[in-house]
Amino acid sequence: MIVKPLDEAYLRSHPLPKHSGGDKHSRGRVLVIAGNIELPGAAILAGLGALRAGAGVLRIAACQTNAPHIGAAMPEAMVIRCSEDGREIGIGNGPRLVELAKGSDSVLIGPGMVDEGSVGRLCALLLNEAIGPIFVVDASAFTSLRHFDIRQEQRGRLVCTPHFGEMAKFLGREREEIESRALRSATEAARSVHAVVALKGASTHVVGLSDEALLNEQGTVGLATSGSGDTLAGIVAGLAARGTSPLLAAAWGVYLHAVAGRLVADRLGAIGLLARELPEEIPPIMRDLE
Ligand code: AMP
Ligand code: MG
Repeated sequence: MIVKPLDEAYLRSHPLPKHSGGDKHSRGRVLVIAGNIELPGAAILAGLGALRAGAGVLRIAACQTNAPHIGAAMPEAMVIRCSEDGREIGIGNGPRLVELAKGSDSVLIGPGMVDEGSVGRLCALLLNEAIGPIFVVDASAFTSLRHFDIRQEQRGRLVCTPHFGEMAKFLGREREEIESRALRSATEAARSVHAVVALKGASTHVVGLSDEALLNEQGTVGLATSGSGDTLAGIVAGLAARGTSPLLAAAWGVYLHAVAGRLVADRLGAIGLLARELPEEIPPIMRDLE
């Protein structure tokens, strides 16, 4: 495996798609499925990330308890009220979400979703029945992938965004082992779910299905904060909806998130940044890399 630095030079030679005209639908429709009743903000953070990454249309599927609040906090989004199964979005919403997913360019599932059992049922249904969008699979939706096979048509169409703890659960190993063998762990997971994997930590490895990996070391300690990963997952989904390949959506997303963190830290101080402050930094970073 060749490991390349995920830096400005790499991204300049792998640019994002250009959108000079077209309507909002042509710049990408994102469906965010996120947040249990105790983590409503995950959907907002992911949604902000997706729109600031340039996607044109945002739909958020949320627990019915959260939906009106998300709608008020995020007037740009269409919010789909989903019935609940315990604290999570229930499987009863599956058929509607499948239809919405089929009409989307990317689907993000997992931020702020905790119960692997119920999230996994929903995730399996979507991955089996909604062919077409790129899927970004985060948090408990990612760990649930250990329980089922990815069907042929979805292979190469997923981006997974676990942190070390989620990767440890997925591979059935200790977190320390994942951390000390991050590249190997990310590669193993990527091969097993036929996906791009961004294994997140102080440095983040992005591994696809080729022999090339990318290593991002642009981050800053302040990024270790609540909601940071939800924002990243949204950025990746936004880029994927614009037509960026799964590998480049992950690579660009990880880089933009890291540099956004540095810019906020430069302004405010090394720690104390809020995840919601990251998305606004994204458009100028993208502009400067054009
Ligand atoms: P999550 O745990 O899902 O909220 O994701 C945390 C995010 O913060 C990921 O993007 C990590 O790469 C990033 N992160 C965590 N710890 C650090 C650190 N010490 N330095 C830089 N980035 C970090
Ligand atoms: Mg997370």
